[in-house]
Amino acid sequence: MRSIHIILASTAVVLTILAPLARAQQAEEETPSYTLITDVNVFDGVADRLTPGRVLIEGNLIRAVGPNVETPDGAVVIDGGGRTLMPGLINCHVHLALPDAIANVESKLLFADVVLGSQLMARGYLMDGFTTVRDAGGNVFGIKKFIDRGLLPGPRIYPSGALISQLGGHFDLRNLTQHKTESHMERIGNIAICDGVPEVLVAARRNFRLQASQLKICVGGGAASDFDPVDTMQFTADEIRAAVTTANNWHTYVGAHIFTPQAMHIAADNGVMVFDHAFLIDEDAMKKVVEKGIFLVPQMNGLSPELLRNPILGPVNLAKIRTVHGQAGDFVALIKKFKPKIVFADDAFGTEDVVFKQRRYELGYRASLFGNFETLRQATSAAGELMALTGPRNPYSGKLGVIEEGALADMLIVDGNPLDDISVIGGTMEWFDAPPPKPIETIRVIMKDGKIFKNTL
Ligand SMILES: [Zn+2]
Repeated sequence: MRSIHIILASTAVVLTILAPLARAQQAEEETPSYTLITDVNVFDGVADRLTPGRVLIEGNLIRAVGPNVETPDGAVVIDGGGRTLMPGLINCHVHLALPDAIANVESKLLFADVVLGSQLMARGYLMDGFTTVRDAGGNVFGIKKFIDRGLLPGPRIYPSGALISQLGGHFDLRNLTQHKTESHMERIGNIAICDGVPEVLVAARRNFRLQASQLKICVGGGAASDFDPVDTMQFTADEIRAAVTTANNWHTYVGAHIFTPQAMHIAADNGVMVFDHAFLIDEDAMKKVVEKGIFLVPQMNGLSPELLRNPILGPVNLAKIRTVHGQAGDFVALIKKFKPKIVFADDAFGTEDVVFKQRRYELGYRASLFGNFETLRQATSAAGELMALTGPRNPYSGKLGVIEEGALADMLIVDGNPLDDISVIGGTMEWFDAPPPKPIETIRVIMKDGKIFKNTL
């Protein structure tokens, strides 16, 4: 009797799970081969102005853009009504597998909780117009597969896999009495604590075996951890090179969590191509960044005084953030002077309401520092360039972040002009005081890979 109950109960569960899956598959089969969007003003991700025209999508690619694009037989026509059409947004530093405060992920969430939280976060990014994310550390391989198969809503994901950190480094998030084998975050594949070249090689190779598109390592201290001051150098040059050699053998790159110029010189000299955060950069390190074509991926909210009001930060973390703020100098002025490659990122983690608020604040705050056009460029064409740095490990063949012939069909149609008003794509200057997030009504259409995930036209 008991077993029958279990079978019936589990059948019901399976059916409940499979029903939306079947619907999603059906939607995919019904995707028309041609979609023509008429009467839109196009922000192409590159130019600082809108160009009126039409956009033709064939399958998952943009086939034509311009004023005189003809309507193919059988095309589904969407009348843009004079609205703005722009590339889907790209967020270059997210953590889908950190769906709660880090300490909670380590000690209170089962792997199933993490996976379900990731799913909510992924859907949240997509429905806010982010059609692509670079996951900067965590086990997102499973959710990525389901999203890519069209079975769950979410953005394209460029996974870094387990975040590679030394013992006592930024992502060694165990409490003081835990030993290496006791880390839950390590067991579920969110982090890999490695010491010495052989352990770094194992972690790097394991990530690529799981189909990481790039690696992420910690080469210096950070604010979200308890035991490593921000000024510390993490990993030796040999250990950094072990990760870089592995990534280069897979024809892709290593990105690093990094703050200080001292760490930047070592990382740059040993082949790291992406600096995440990078707030303490000085002129000398900036020159090297520009010379080597290294990408900077700062979450600008990390420099905001508002960050000190973040309720999940403890006294140790707050003290570290004050240190960074005190030493950061004029980061924005340095960026404007040297014009390095720089892309959009929010580095949000936590429950979905927290993540929502942070990514919308990041858009608004960044626009207040760099202007709307530059913020949009960083979140579209510039970010697309970073995605392409994965070379043959790119999970999605095609160009991202631009509206042009041959690019992947990821786009938004929005009311108003985001070049004039960043709030039409959700940008706001309210962070912790913001009301509970609601869907962004001015985003009217969300298309990813030629498929429509929202259409309120
Ligand atoms: Zn991060």
